[in-house]
Amino acid sequence: MISLEMSNPFGLDGKLALITGGASGIGEATARVFSEAGARVLIVDLDAERARAAAETIPGGEARGCDVTDEEQVRKLFESIPALDILVNCAGIGMVGGIEETELREFQRLFRVNVDGTFLMTRAAIPLLRRVRGSVVNIGSVAGLVGIKRRFGYCATKGAVIAMTRQLAVEYPTQIRANCIAPGTVDTPFVDGYLEKYHREEKDKVRQELNERQPLGRLGKPEEIARLALYICSPAADFMSGSVITIDGGWTAG
Ligand code: NDP
Repeated sequence: MISLEMSNPFGLDGKLALITGGASGIGEATARVFSEAGARVLIVDLDAERARAAAETIPGGEARGCDVTDEEQVRKLFESIPALDILVNCAGIGMVGGIEETELREFQRLFRVNVDGTFLMTRAAIPLLRRVRGSVVNIGSVAGLVGIKRRFGYCATKGAVIAMTRQLAVEYPTQIRANCIAPGTVDTPFVDGYLEKYHREEKDKVRQELNERQPLGRLGKPEEIARLALYICSPAADFMSGSVITIDGGWTAG
């Protein structure tokens, strides 16, 4: 029998969600979708001005500048947050290169943002999330599940994000829910930046190749990832923890 207890099993009424990387791309879309679902959202991003600009367009949106790799900044940020229901770790950067092209400094920078940042934010949020059986959503990538040519460092960081998610689910089985979304390529400034940096002369051609890499024949939309994050954080997904969910146009199905 279907329970009638939940008024809206897919809503986030009254919840407070912190979204890192919330000033751009998937994070910004997530802030918007969560707000539409009834949550108050706190956008956290490197650039405080951009975070504020994004928050101003979202009802109930607030913003804070914070470098998620900086332990002191993260500590200060959480001093001003008395309660939290949802943490979405979305801040992340990319890097192109096989192992022999990868400089240690670049590799470490990638780990600082994608792995240390997720670690520091989650560690700071756990005491608040445990009080309310809150939810952590890590934005991983298919790169953490399958090898992608010339993405040595990036694949390594996203593998770590998946491993951290599963460990949290095991460590706190009843106190929090921790899940990871593994998107394929999504049309955001992250991809624009990649095309500009590595393929300035042939952007259209490479964009087409990115479309074709996914059997569905197109890039994902940030809103599509955001709606999956909404489902994961909603009461409807109460039984979901430790899951790694691909959303990749069929990329990893083959
Ligand atoms: P965007 O570049 O559009 O957004 C990422 C945001 O994170 C930016 O606003 C960026 O700020 C911010 N950020 C970077 N470093 C830090 C930091 N140290 N502290 C706080 N904020 C920071 O990327 P996407 O929305 O595309 O990507 C979001 C996440 O999704 C990333 O983790 C990415 O790896 C992952 N992902 C993306 C895919 C894609 O194809 N787009 C596919 C699979 C996963 P700034 O711009 O100032 O650097």
